[in-house]
Amino acid sequence: MNVIIFGSPGAGKGTQSHNLSKKFNLYQVSTGALLRNEIKNKTEIGNEIEKIIAEGDFATDDIVNKLLKKIITNPLYRNRIIFDGYPRNISQAKTLDQILDEDNQSISYIFYLNVNREITEKRIIGRITCENCNKTFNEFFDKEILNNHDCGEKFLKKRKDDNKEAVMTRYDTYMKKTEPVLRFYSSKSYFHEIDGNQKIDVITGKIEQILTV
Ligand code: AMP
Repeated sequence: MNVIIFGSPGAGKGTQSHNLSKKFNLYQVSTGALLRNEIKNKTEIGNEIEKIIAEGDFATDDIVNKLLKKIITNPLYRNRIIFDGYPRNISQAKTLDQILDEDNQSISYIFYLNVNREITEKRIIGRITCENCNKTFNEFFDKEILNNHDCGEKFLKKRKDDNKEAVMTRYDTYMKKTEPVLRFYSSKSYFHEIDGNQKIDVITGKIEQILTV
């Protein structure tokens, strides 16, 4: 099955995708992580998008669609992809349909994590990610867990775009460009809205319930 996790910045898409990829042997494709990797490796794409991403704007569809097509059509990941952060606008949603269609694949589930803005801001400003195990934590809520984290402190990194200014831009961009994608998907039989304001495990449990019916 291919699954889309949809929601605003800070909705918990990465966290839920990570949990579900482990439980259901899915391959998590985080477009944000893919793009950050390009920046880290100082590739041509990375240089082009560094400033755009730091300010909270979108990378171009052309760049994102090309990166995604490579993964979707790779036999290793066939029908076992969990999309985290893609599609993010109507044009990407249409391109995704086309890429899947041409490769005889489809989407089995879409989970929309609906979270209020206040909570997303708190989650984003406190977010810290371990570059070794890819787990995400919150500096304010997970102090003890972070102090005892197995991989050690040196891998724990804050994202450049997790600051107040960029968060405002990211949220506005979400409302303008990404939210309309909801209308594109919400009438599909495989669309599920989940209350994303709840605790991580509760949300994972609700999604799991739907996936195992
Ligand atoms: P995320 O890690 O999902 O919060 O994404 C971080 C940033 O990467 C976003 O704010 C965008 O600048 C960029 N990005 C991620 N996914 C996409 C996408 N599908 N299309 C365009 N830009 C993206």
